[in-house]
Parts: sequence; C-alpha cells; structure tokens
Amino acid sequence: TDLDRIRNFSIVAHIDHGKSTLADRLIQLTGTVAERDMKAQMLDTMDIERERGITIKANSVRIEYPAKDGKTYILNLIDTPGHVDFAYEVSRSMRAVEGSLLVVDASQGVEAQTLANVYHALDAGHEIVPVLNKVDLPAAEPERVREQIEDVIGLDAKDAVLISAKSGLGIPDVLEAIVTRLPAPKGDRNAPLKAMLVDSWYDSYLGVVVMIRVMDGVIRKGDRIKMMQTGAVYGVDKLAVLKPQMVDIAELGPGEIGIWTGSIKQVRDTRVGDTITTEKKGCETPLPGFKPAQPVVFCGLFPVDANDFDDLRQAIEKLQLNDASFSSEMETSAALGFGFRCGFLGLLHLEVIRDRLEREYDLDLITTAPSVVYHIFMRDGTQQDLHNPADMPDLTYVDHIEEPRIKATIMVPDEYLGDVLKLCQDRRGIQLNLTYAGARAMVEYDLPLNEVVFDFYDRLKSITKGYASFDYTLTEYREDHLVKMSILVNDEPVDALSMMVHRDRAEMRGRAMVEKLKDLIPRHMFKIPIQAAIGGRVIARETLSAMRKDVTAKCYGGDVTRKKKLLEKQKAGKKKMRQFGKVEIPQTAFIAALKMD
Ligand code: GDP
Ligand code: MG
Repeated sequence: TDLDRIRNFSIVAHIDHGKSTLADRLIQLTGTVAERDMKAQMLDTMDIERERGITIKANSVRIEYPAKDGKTYILNLIDTPGHVDFAYEVSRSMRAVEGSLLVVDASQGVEAQTLANVYHALDAGHEIVPVLNKVDLPAAEPERVREQIEDVIGLDAKDAVLISAKSGLGIPDVLEAIVTRLPAPKGDRNAPLKAMLVDSWYDSYLGVVVMIRVMDGVIRKGDRIKMMQTGAVYGVDKLAVLKPQMVDIAELGPGEIGIWTGSIKQVRDTRVGDTITTEKKGCETPLPGFKPAQPVVFCGLFPVDANDFDDLRQAIEKLQLNDASFSSEMETSAALGFGFRCGFLGLLHLEVIRDRLEREYDLDLITTAPSVVYHIFMRDGTQQDLHNPADMPDLTYVDHIEEPRIKATIMVPDEYLGDVLKLCQDRRGIQLNLTYAGARAMVEYDLPLNEVVFDFYDRLKSITKGYASFDYTLTEYREDHLVKMSILVNDEPVDALSMMVHRDRAEMRGRAMVEKLKDLIPRHMFKIPIQAAIGGRVIARETLSAMRKDVTAKCYGGDVTRKKKLLEKQKAGKKKMRQFGKVEIPQTAFIAALKMD
C-alpha cells in the first residue's frame, strides 16, 4: 500500500467521554464489520472491560475508507485505555501511530486524563484533531468546551469536529479529518525490515500473538524473524491484520500495523518495545525502546488451595505476556505458604489482574495488603528496597526511611473543592497550586503515594459524586516518619495484614483496621482478640466474642440429611477462608480491611 494512502491514529480521551463508542461508529460506518455482527464496544474484548465499561488493553482495528478525494485509505485505529493506571498502555500504543483524535465530552469539558493523554500524544509527536462528542445532550456546550481546550491545553480548536458518537452525527466529518488533517506515515520499503513490537498476548488456539507496526521494509509470511533485544528467531507462520477479527494477509509494508504468530514458546521472547527484523540482512540499529513501566504497588497473591500453586504460576506467566507492566516474584509466607509478590501500576490495575486470574484461570486467591516500595537506609550505610512490609528490618538497624511522593492533578466543580482539599490534607498532602478553568477548579497536590493507593480514588469519587477527575505522576522519594504496623489475630501476627504507616496516622489506621476486622472475621467457638501493634506496643484492640451455638444445633433430632446439608454448606463457605493459628480469616478481609470510610 502507498504510504500516502495510510493513516494511523489513536483515540484519546478522559474515561467515559466516548472513545469506544466513536471507535464503534467508525467501524460501523465503513462497513468493517457486518451490521449483524456489530455489538457495542467492539474493541473491549475482555469480560472485565465489558462489565466495568472501561477499556483496559489497547486494541487495534484496520478500516478501509473511500474518501471524498476518490481514493481509498487504510486507517489503522488503536483504541487506548483512559484510566490513570493504564497510562503505560497509552504511551506505548502512541508510539505506533502518527496522530490522535482527542475526544472531549461537550457536556463535561476537559478533565484530568484529557490533559494527561494529550501530553502523551504530544510527547509522541502527534498531530491532534479535537473532537467534541455528545453534542446531542441538552447539557452540551461545544462553544465553551472549544474555548476551554484552547485555554487549558493550548490547542487550536477552531476546527474541532462536532459529533454525537451515539447517534452517528458528524462521523463522516471525523473520517475526512483523519484523512486530510493527520499525516501519512513515513518509511522505506526497500530498507531492511524494522518493526516495533507494540503488544503481545496469549491466544489459546494460536499461542503467542505479536502485534507490530512496520517502520521500514516488508514482513512476509514464511520470513525468518529476529527479536533484536532477546536475539530469539522465529518463522512467521501466520500474518494478519485485525478487522478487528484476524484476516490473513501476504505482507505488511511500512506504516502498516498487523499481527503475526510463529509457534513462539518462550513468552519472555516477546518484549513489548523490542525491534523486530529479519534473521538475515536485518537492520543495524534498533528503534528507541519504550520506557519500561515501573510497578508502584505491590501485594502478595496466594492460592486459597495450596495445590493450585502451579496453576497460579502458569496463569501469571500468561498474563504477564499480555501485560508487560505487571511483575511477579515467588514469595513464601509462614501463614499463606507459596505464592507471588506482584507489582502493579495502581490499585485498579491490581484489582483487574486479580479478577482476571480468578476468572480466566479459575483460581481462588488471597490478596495481601497492597504496599508501595520504600527505600530503607540502614545504619551501616547500605540501602534496600522494601516491597513487603513483612520484610521490614529491625528498627535498631534502620537509619531512616524514604517513601514515594506524587504530584496529583485533580479537576473538580467548585462546590466540591472544600471536601477535596480536606481529603488531600487528611492524606498528608501539600497543596502546590490552585487555578480555575470556568467553574472547575484545578488543584495540584504533593501527596505520599501510600495514602493514595488504597482507596483515595474511590473516596474522591464518592465525595464529589463522580465529578472529580484525577491523574498523577511520581515525583521523588522523601524521608518521613514511617513505621510498620502489625496486626495480631488471637495473639498471632498475620504477616499479610502488616502495613507501613506514618507515625502520626498509625493509631487512627490501627483502630480502623481492628474495627473492620472485627466485622470481617466470622465468630468462632472462642473469644478472639484483634490487635494492632507497633513493635511490641499495642495501639488498638477489639475483641470478637465467641459464637454461642453450633450451626447444626438448630436442627435437633434425627434429621440427618438436613444436618449433612448444613455442614456441606459450611464447608463450601470455608473454601474462601484461610486458617491462621486457630482462626479462619475470609480472603475478602485482606483488602476490605484497608479501605477507610
Ligand atoms: P470511553 O470510556 O471513552 O470508551 O467511553 P464509552 O465509549 O464507553 O462511552 C461512555 C458512555 O457515554 C456510554 O454510556 C456511551 O453510551 C455514552 N456516549 C458515548 N457517546 C455518546 C454521545 O455522543 N451521546 C451520548 N448521549 N452518550 C454517549
Ligand atoms: Mg472505552
């Protein structure tokens, strides 16, 4: 295909502003998918994406569009996730395309992730076409939002395209804008093959599937291909484009995006960001790689049933192929046995991965308290990274501790500003900046990440009735008075519930934790003390009173089947429990205990 007949673009937007709906309309209007096969949010293929209504993985589709100039263009669209935890996916897919459609909900205006995503697009050198969506809504104010884009982002919005992705209004204008306003890709067909590994995932029929963007040269079915970073060599068994289902193709040239498979066994061989070339007469210098994702939140994942450990290991390995930003390392815990310490980009990311492991791989998991990474400076001058509060060294050897800080940007309607400031203040925040864009305040805070990972985003949403938007970047590590708080259930420390807290907040967190646990742990035949402690000092305590009767006591007499049934029910309920000394703790307690109201 001629380079000037190709346009590669992504759609970026704040969550819920209509990216996926617009992608649906583009797919539909160009007849890429037959009408009877259309379903809403075509590109959100994972169950979790459909259920939560959010896009998690970036997805791609190839569209053919006969333009007004009489020529037919190939448009490669990459739909990107909008949530802050998935910024890594966004910046990655941006590098594979030349332009972006910036979708802004005309009834809402610019939000925190609108800004964050625009910066990713500008970093990648994109041409940007602003699109004002939802103009069908009575509350839509396209003129005001157009001005806001110019004032807040500094982007020329006079030619912004007005659309309703829902009704289909303005979609032909979007297609024309893609062709006339976004640049064609560049590349040399006669040069050695140079392609970017954009994404890879595991498919149960095809094995490892690799998505690439060709920069120079041509890739053909049957070629011998080398991954430049790992040196691994594979044959190309299948070459296809996504429409969005796979359609085989003989070759992919410069500017094109597609997938290939080649009986790849080693999932480690397909590193996102790697450069792909031919085994013989390949290119000399690789493309600059992607910035590797830095996991910021860690937690332990353990199988409820210790026999499932091997299944968990395999499931994690497969998911990692699909998501390069999630890390894992084997871990053993006195109470929980063998499991993994896993790293995530944020708490939503953690929840999504845990959900996927449980559903797609049919596993029951215990998730331990999430923690950020602390830098521990020892008195002997050495330094160590602490990923797990349970590994906290004895304080007598510790000189000081540093924790990660973030710069948070929050946009919120004026009337909720007071509550938002209070929330940030309560979480040890330092206000950096406060400006206005119309009736919306934009406030910047310096916050400790450990106060944000648990439930900050949930709290922010609930106090602002969902009207606040939030984005953050890591800034630096800074020293503070941090201590390890342990939780003791029936006088036994439960490693998986220990956490790092600020000295001044320890008592409050400790009390909240033991109160929560009192509700979350079912009653036993005996009294159970639940305590929070720092070192040997107890800072909070609750007692769970003993259960009075056996459950089977109420079916007195001879009804054996009923008694059996009850016992069976009890056993099934226990499956999701784990034994700690004499006490059983349900797996849900491990995360629920951390959420503060
Ligand atoms: P995304 O998170 O940016 O992918 O947003 P979605 O495409 O999932 O859309 C979020 C919600 O807005 C969905 O309920 C859509 O039906 C709705 N929506 C999208 N476009 C329009 C539109 O043009 N008008 C109206 N009224 N609703 C829309
Ligand atoms: Mg979406």
